[in-house]
Amino acid sequence: MLRILMAASEAAPFAKTGGLADVLGALPAALKDQGNEVAVVIPRYGSISLDGCERVWDSYLIYLGPHAIHTSFWTRVHDGVRFYFVDCPWLFDRPGLYSAYGHDYADNHLRFATFCQAVLGILRFLFHADIVHLHDWQSALVGAYLRTRFNLDPLFRDVRIVFTIHNLEHQGRFGPHVFADLGLDPWLYQPEGIEYYGDVNFMKAGIVFSDAITTVSPRYAAEIQTPEFGFGLDGLLRAHSSRLHGILNGVDYGEWNPETDPYIHSRYSADDLAGKAACKRDLVGEAGLPADSQDTPLIGLVSRFAWQKGLDLFAEIAWQLFLEEDVNFVFLGSGDRTLEKFFASLSERFPRKVWGYFGYNHRLSHKIEAGADMFLMPSRFEPCGLNQMYSLRYGTLPIVRATGGLDDTVHGRVGFKFWGYSPADLLLAIRAGLTAWRDPADWRSRMREAMRLDFSWTESAIRYSNLYKSL
Ligand code: ADP
Repeated sequence: MLRILMAASEAAPFAKTGGLADVLGALPAALKDQGNEVAVVIPRYGSISLDGCERVWDSYLIYLGPHAIHTSFWTRVHDGVRFYFVDCPWLFDRPGLYSAYGHDYADNHLRFATFCQAVLGILRFLFHADIVHLHDWQSALVGAYLRTRFNLDPLFRDVRIVFTIHNLEHQGRFGPHVFADLGLDPWLYQPEGIEYYGDVNFMKAGIVFSDAITTVSPRYAAEIQTPEFGFGLDGLLRAHSSRLHGILNGVDYGEWNPETDPYIHSRYSADDLAGKAACKRDLVGEAGLPADSQDTPLIGLVSRFAWQKGLDLFAEIAWQLFLEEDVNFVFLGSGDRTLEKFFASLSERFPRKVWGYFGYNHRLSHKIEAGADMFLMPSRFEPCGLNQMYSLRYGTLPIVRATGGLDDTVHGRVGFKFWGYSPADLLLAIRAGLTAWRDPADWRSRMREAMRLDFSWTESAIRYSNLYKSL
């Protein structure tokens, strides 16, 4: 049995902007099922209610450069896993997790350096651990503090550090002026430390000061060591490649399962697909698409509208697609203003074929998974991607670009893949899907094949457990 303390900036169901939260919501429970003791630390954002939480530390004072910052710690058990919340309202009680009104908070370095110091407080006083498992740049400084400021502290001597990269695009890179706010040894501001072309790079700290580095699919582990996907850190990752492992994320089938999903119109399974048609009818109704749309293939999209997601490719072919093909489209997402405008104009131009919702909507994301026939993910890069795995379980065949976790999880007849990052290749993949859909018996057999695939967390949790033990 190992004691594992995870630190991250989000965890479902408390705070979520993307797949990172899904991982923190499910992996700890899977590790616990294998006999480990696991706790998770996240910041206490304003959106997290403290009802039902216990205050376990009244005032934990953190000194960072010229700052003295009061925090307090709260805790509760969820799904058998202990969660700690770092409360510091002036840093974390804000409209968004990392940004508001399209702009990152100017003090994000201070917010997450404070968080990292608080994690060490919890490790020291509340949850002694064998393994500290850090996720993405927001928690990466924990490793730097542990291996420098507290290097000789007997309490931490045997702690091993695992750092998981969920998305290398976001590195926590700040101007050199922030270094004085971090309370780090001055020697760290150099290329062997966390200096990066004159800036401070939090992600680098995670890579340099961990005992093992993981990322969320085997394919992405290889990709990030190349200039195309390395976002400038490919050289560093190649230098540390002997410690780099690709472990695929799993799916929380407790939440994403058409046999039990409370958000969808009718439950269904691989053995009884009738409910899927009812879900499509329900979605078509909610979207206000014409009643005869049941006989038209429906493609769904649930995504952050971000550069990563390759929606610019879709924008290049969308008009041709809807002019030439009998196909409907339902989307859910928000983000990049240009893409939002594009999707708005698309639904205005093709009101009988295209409908969407701008924003975050958990219920609708489930309804689209269940109600669509196909699911679109044309990502430029995709560390793991969860929606394609959800789609497979819902019999909603994914159309994906063969990159990262998309390439690792979609094989053979259960989806439609394209390789080159080109609009023509995407259009070909969509057309392959539309052609396949027109053979109902074959389509049903593809759906059943997809729905029987298993990406549960158990297998991934075994891999993480083995990695922890090897350290
Ligand atoms: P990423 O983490 O890069 O955003 P993933 O595919 O790993 O991509 O995970 C995305 C998660 O966020 C999925 O659970 C998906 O359903 C959810 N999601 C994304 N956008 C929305 C939205 N607008 N409304 C509801 N859920 C969303």
